[in-house]
Amino acid sequence: MKLLIRGVCIVTMNEEFEIIAPGSIVIDGNRLSYVGPAQSAPSGPFERSIEGGRLIAMPGLINSHCHSPANLVRGMMPSKPLEIWRAYYRASLRDMREEDFYASALLGGMEMLKTGTTSVLDHFFGNQACRFMGAGAAIQAMRDLGLRHVVALTLSDRNYEETIPLGSGAAAVGDEIKRMSQSEAKATQAWLDDCEAFIETFHAPDKLTTACPGPSAVQRCTDELLVKSAQMARRKSLPMHIHLAETKAQQLMGRQLYGTSLLQHLESLNVLDSNLSLAHSIWIDEGDVELFAGRGVTAVHNPASNLRLGSGLAPVKRYLAAGARVALGTDGAASNDSQNMFDAIRLSALIHNQAGTDFAQWTSPRQVLMMATVNGARAFGLDAGVLATGKLADVTLLRRDTPAFTPLNDLAGQLVFCENGSSVDTVIVNGEIVVESGRLKCMNEQEALALASKARERIDPSIQRELAAAKTMEPALAEMYARVFGD
Ligand SMILES: [Zn+2]
Repeated sequence: MKLLIRGVCIVTMNEEFEIIAPGSIVIDGNRLSYVGPAQSAPSGPFERSIEGGRLIAMPGLINSHCHSPANLVRGMMPSKPLEIWRAYYRASLRDMREEDFYASALLGGMEMLKTGTTSVLDHFFGNQACRFMGAGAAIQAMRDLGLRHVVALTLSDRNYEETIPLGSGAAAVGDEIKRMSQSEAKATQAWLDDCEAFIETFHAPDKLTTACPGPSAVQRCTDELLVKSAQMARRKSLPMHIHLAETKAQQLMGRQLYGTSLLQHLESLNVLDSNLSLAHSIWIDEGDVELFAGRGVTAVHNPASNLRLGSGLAPVKRYLAAGARVALGTDGAASNDSQNMFDAIRLSALIHNQAGTDFAQWTSPRQVLMMATVNGARAFGLDAGVLATGKLADVTLLRRDTPAFTPLNDLAGQLVFCENGSSVDTVIVNGEIVVESGRLKCMNEQEALALASKARERIDPSIQRELAAAKTMEPALAEMYARVFGD
């Protein structure tokens, strides 16, 4: 389709942070064929034109870390440290089937699109009883919605009990943690074969899908799995995604296992590269920030999740000051619990402003908007995140006749501090209009919500049973948490 958006205020997110008003955008097929001043726009014919006088155009937001199976349990997980919370969250996955993964991804994807997100990285972990843990169903949901997606298949070949510093508490949680482990871990080669087949089956950028390896976390994988996953990603020119140093317990475990930081261990394995993105990256060591910058690795900041689970404050200002790349994510709905990127944007612009720190280095609206757009695109090799001629046509149009943009004082400041996603009017992904007047175009929203409610209802007996089993582990995990912070 050839589409013209005429007379719109364009936040390009290019290197000069150029704002063009009034500007025009022409979309030809799945690419932007013109982005510039309205008076120089090419003349038609166009199959469709949108009058942009009351609109703001920006690159579609890029949610750089989430877990789509978590949408069914939003709001109900306890606010507890990650290691305890994880036992409860995993309980919710045990009985999920393909149709539940579909419903969950549909729910989260719908929320994202309606609040201006056009691409998402889904670090997918589901149920081993399903083929590719159910990731195929999540991919189908995102294709049906028209949401661009990078699905990193979570790989982990170490028993869970060996990956957290349980100490003498190991005996107390023995049986239950082994049961958890058995439902998750698989042998190294089996994971690699699975991942290869997953990519072969689903990787199809023309269908909006990038499929890639997503080792769960450094300490949860053998060196062989980390190295071979990285080789696979490089060989196929794909991104790779890993959780890094989300909690202090993980940092401690890294020292116990490797005698270095988790990041330095990846460096010793020659895994660090510009195609690698590392979720959280909070508990890092001396020299790690420089390593991020030097290797072009992207740290993915998830402020809401980190606050919800008390994981800690990622050193975002230090990353930015060192010239390291930082992208932004919501994380899964079990620890956020919304999938609205405007929440993440606002939080990232607020929580780093701490008393007594160098205010010249507090995060600026421009930096935060870059995290939510161009930096995510670069991390995943997507030719998006910027409104410029030749880029993929992933565009979010916001109404400016809303309280958030009235009076219009400072566009970047208002996008970051005032907007909450409710001004989103039209969303275009890959040249297709997928949200119009704030509503999904290709799907009945009520039906999508009903599907999610039905799925949640079906898995409820399993969730209740598994939550009770997880509770038996809490005292030993709480003791571990106290010990980690008592050192
Ligand atoms: Zn995560």
